[in-house]
Amino acid sequence: KGGTPEREIPFAQPGSLTKVIAVASGKGGVGKSSVTVNLALALARRGHMVGLLDADIYGHSVPAMLGVGDAKPTAVEDMIMPVPTQGLKVISIGMLKPRRDQVVAWRGPILDRALTQMLSDVYWGDLDYLLLDLPPGTGDVAISLGQKLPNAEVLVVTTPQQAAAEVAERAGTMASMMNQRVIGVVENMAYLETTCAHCGELERHDVFGSGGGETVSDALTSRLGYRVPVLAEIPLDPRLRAGGDEGSPIVVDAPETTAAKALLDLADGI
Ligand code: ADP
Repeated sequence: KGGTPEREIPFAQPGSLTKVIAVASGKGGVGKSSVTVNLALALARRGHMVGLLDADIYGHSVPAMLGVGDAKPTAVEDMIMPVPTQGLKVISIGMLKPRRDQVVAWRGPILDRALTQMLSDVYWGDLDYLLLDLPPGTGDVAISLGQKLPNAEVLVVTTPQQAAAEVAERAGTMASMMNQRVIGVVENMAYLETTCAHCGELERHDVFGSGGGETVSDALTSRLGYRVPVLAEIPLDPRLRAGGDEGSPIVVDAPETTAAKALLDLADGI
């Protein structure tokens, strides 16, 4: 057909030293992007070279969470330079749009091309980790990335709610159908901790119910034939929300909080 042949995806090559971790969820709003961004920063704090690819066509909220919502990547020769911020290299599907307010209504081949571009036309350099923020669910992006990166490991984010757990389980099953290994489940918004005004004791509230992480872990463990553990339980914390809104995520801004500690521990165990 002519034209330039597509570049190979460096992370998909047999001797690649980059650990690729895709963060998936069944539905939106469970904190998948928050977990991805904080996990990336936690890994960078530990001295790793980390790339972050935001493939969430519906949300693409990663740049704003890192305070670079208006950044445009630069081009050097025929390569795209990722946006450097807070020790990470970031590319978002939102950065490939001509205008910020444009809706990404890509499907099939165009979406596939955009994903290839973010993997192989971006000058990532040497990375220890590449984190991918997937769109929620089991749609085109998950399939496309599954085909391009069968060596990727997948983390499934859910809330404690049983309805969320059911759809999260499907996202995990989908990853394994693409031959990707599901390394674990993150239960986000797991509980809310308050201090009793009278006795000063810490109280735990199960705002979104309980057991969702375990449900997904049990279901995937029996379906996939290997253990898929719950790797983290992250509490609700207004500082986590605020950190995302303000571009200063909690693992950097308030590392002493229980939520940040859970994310830092997750990074250490990965
Ligand atoms: P998703 O990527 O799954 O759609 P987001 O990461 O965008 O979800 O999170 C949805 C909203 O919930 C955001 O406003 C985010 O700041 C907030 N949020 C996520 N996790 C927590 C948490 N543990 N505590 C408080 N707010 C949270």
